[in-house]
Amino acid sequence: MRSKAALIESEVARRLADRALMSAMTSFVGYVFQALLIRHYATDEHLVRWVAAMAACETISGIVAWRSLRRYSRSEDSAPHMNWQAAALLLTGTCWGCSVFLPGVRDQSLLFVANLCILAVAGVFSIHNLCLHWPSLATFTLGLLAPSAFSGLIDSQSWLLRGGAAMLTFGMLQLYGFKTRQLERREIGSRIAMAEMTLQLTCKNEELADALEANERLAAQDPLTGCMNRRGLKQRYRKSAARRKGDAESLGIIMIDADHFKAVNDTHGHDTGDQVLQALAGKIKSQLRAPDSLARWGGEEFVCVIEGVDAAGLWLAAERIRLAVCEEPVVCKGVTLAVTVSLGVSLLGKQEAFEAAVDRADQALYRAKHSGRNRVGVLDAVAVQRWIDCVSDPAEPRPCPQ
Ligand code: GH3
Ligand code: MG
Ligand code: MG
Repeated sequence: MRSKAALIESEVARRLADRALMSAMTSFVGYVFQALLIRHYATDEHLVRWVAAMAACETISGIVAWRSLRRYSRSEDSAPHMNWQAAALLLTGTCWGCSVFLPGVRDQSLLFVANLCILAVAGVFSIHNLCLHWPSLATFTLGLLAPSAFSGLIDSQSWLLRGGAAMLTFGMLQLYGFKTRQLERREIGSRIAMAEMTLQLTCKNEELADALEANERLAAQDPLTGCMNRRGLKQRYRKSAARRKGDAESLGIIMIDADHFKAVNDTHGHDTGDQVLQALAGKIKSQLRAPDSLARWGGEEFVCVIEGVDAAGLWLAAERIRLAVCEEPVVCKGVTLAVTVSLGVSLLGKQEAFEAAVDRADQALYRAKHSGRNRVGVLDAVAVQRWIDCVSDPAEPRPCPQ
């Protein structure tokens, strides 16, 4: 992973690259315009060719700057890419320097106009292209001065003047570029710091949300059996009550209590009792469908909420649970224990509170206990009788008519 400083540098280089491309295009358009101007007012083909050469050089050096800065923005090392930029500026400088060879245009007002245009274009180019570094500055100046030095066309004084002016101009641009880059670094640095802070906050938020969710899950779960606890069931029921609004589906409640469980604890110990409770929860769960819910209501009592069920279906579901428990004994630590449960059922009325329906299931359970345990109790005695009539063999319960 790249360091923060490297990231800042790369972003600065990327921005400079964009500017270099912009300035290359500006230069090209500027030179074309200039060439047209000269062509219109002068017949000197040399001048036009020279302007075309300048346009090509400036555009090439702009594109080289853009490419090299783009590459630099993706790598750690600036040197190889910036060398290309220095080479391109050597070409541009040489082209500028060669203007001393322009025949027949010296001391003419046209050259003055042309130079003004060049200065305007070069100014836009250079100010936009703040990517000049000192080797580029050196190569440009070298290119600018060399043709004059070898031609002997200008005296040493103006040679020095030209060099000095070039150095001064590019030095100032360098300073301007340096200042601007400094400001950009600062701006990008603070943006990265903001992004880091936002990221940290987002991570913290996610951690908190996860912890909250885990806490809520734990608070709604029974640690011994892994199924919901009373709080969890009430919470889920609130959701399911909201879903039921308007539709005709009814909820059935089954309250289950292990028979003579105290005796299991007393005879085999509390640990065995715990394991029996776990096995009991597993057996009950195995008889439920996906939308149904199971919760440990407390001690050795469980409550099931059966979704979309009528009275007969509810009784059948309870009977299925009862049979699943009593037909297969629980084996704990090598001891086989015959466990039975008593159950009470109630249907939740449309306007009835959940707790009220659970209370009725509890009363029905009380009846089941009092009528001998290991059975399903209901409050409506007529309905009980009807159901019992329907089921000739309790081991194979059949659905009863409504
Ligand atoms: P009944 O048929 O009338 O329900 O008889 P019972 O012995 O089951 O009576 P009751 O329901 O009143 O007794 C509940 C017993 O369940 C008392 C307690 O020892 C036991 N119990 C409650 N919670 C736990 C638990 O978390 N682990 C264990 N091992 N036993 C528990
Ligand atoms: Mg009990
Ligand atoms: Mg009990």
